[in-house]
Amino acid sequence: MTTNLLDYDLEGLTAFCEQLGQKRFRATQLFRWIHQKGASDFEQMTDLAKSLREKLAGAAHIQGLNVVSRHDSSDGTIKWLFDVGAGDVIETVFIPETGRGTLCISSQAGCAVGCRFCSTGHQGFSRNLTTGEIISQLWFAEHFLRKHLGRDERIISNVVMMGMGEPLQNYSQLLPALKVMLDDHGYGLSRRRVTVSTSGVVPMIDRLARDCPVALAVSLHAPNDALRSNLVPLNKKYPIAELLDACARYQSAAPRDFITFEYCMLEGVNDQPEHARQLVALMKTHAANGLSCKFNLIPFNPFPASGLLRSEMPQVLAFAKILLDAGIITTVRKTRGDDIDAACGQLAGDVQDRTGVDQRMAAQRQGMLGGIKVVVVNRDTV
Ligand code: SAH
Ligand code: SF4
Repeated sequence: MTTNLLDYDLEGLTAFCEQLGQKRFRATQLFRWIHQKGASDFEQMTDLAKSLREKLAGAAHIQGLNVVSRHDSSDGTIKWLFDVGAGDVIETVFIPETGRGTLCISSQAGCAVGCRFCSTGHQGFSRNLTTGEIISQLWFAEHFLRKHLGRDERIISNVVMMGMGEPLQNYSQLLPALKVMLDDHGYGLSRRRVTVSTSGVVPMIDRLARDCPVALAVSLHAPNDALRSNLVPLNKKYPIAELLDACARYQSAAPRDFITFEYCMLEGVNDQPEHARQLVALMKTHAANGLSCKFNLIPFNPFPASGLLRSEMPQVLAFAKILLDAGIITTVRKTRGDDIDAACGQLAGDVQDRTGVDQRMAAQRQGMLGGIKVVVVNRDTV
């Protein structure tokens, strides 16, 4: 089997080309062909000498993922399922908006963290994606969309690592993929427009700060350790205080002047005024360590096996008001692509068992078809 060039960032590709006796600038040319022009065939690369193209064809290939299916939502959101072998399927979601296009990318097949409210978590962990499999989602989507929409210019302006999997539990494969996204010879995305979302892998937050400080979103979901450990089992290993300390440290390297905290609103579980007041107190304590935050309240997307329900909107707004009154910037995320199960936490492939859903959950799923009325931001504005 030859080498898949999608597995390399520019540094890796340069080393590979050097092994073939090629100068550095050849690697840059090749990298631009792959990522900026979407080339998958060396014969297309007409400014490379024929002898080099033949050498490359003998030593390497450019192979993206196999598409299982594509689902187009009425709101313009597109979801792809990709086959990553051995029965594993991952998902990628494109969310268009005026002036920007966001791609939500998966980092693992399944997830080992096992959050109670997440269908990927319920599915369990299958395996880490390779760098090539992570970047292929962007490579494929960007070049597909240019053709599909008949446009020459860049379509995807933002990437969020909010698909399946915990990106910071697949750090070694994630890092080169992030570098390709940021590289001016690759996708040239700014650090502010690439967001890693994590359930709180503390040591890796520090490494990301050193290696590649992109925007950070932290999935908090609870204001105290007892509740958070119940919802996000990783909290037992890295409790809230340690997590928030890591966030404060991250901030000095971060491209934005705040960390985004995601908070999935679960009816009767974490959505009471008392929880909001605890959050305010928690954030005040950590503000003293230099942490500044923004909250993004996410309406829970219900799925049968969770046994959980989405908080009603008045509850969400009352919660938001307590945070806002305390001076914490707070938004409520608008759900997108619900009619194709592309919303957060629904990225587990086929959402099974629609028949067994209890009536209220069924109603909530129905209600999602139109999206919620109160908006405020989309997934890409994290
Ligand atoms: N593992 C990472 C990134 C992927 S999950 C993380 O947990 O941050 C991306 C976001 O979707 C997280 O904030 C997660 O809490 C949220 N999410 C998961 N399941 C959800 C659901 N059923 N409804 C709404 N949001 C959900
Ligand atoms: Fe994994 Fe994130 Fe889902 Fe938790 S919310 S199970 S960390 S993908």
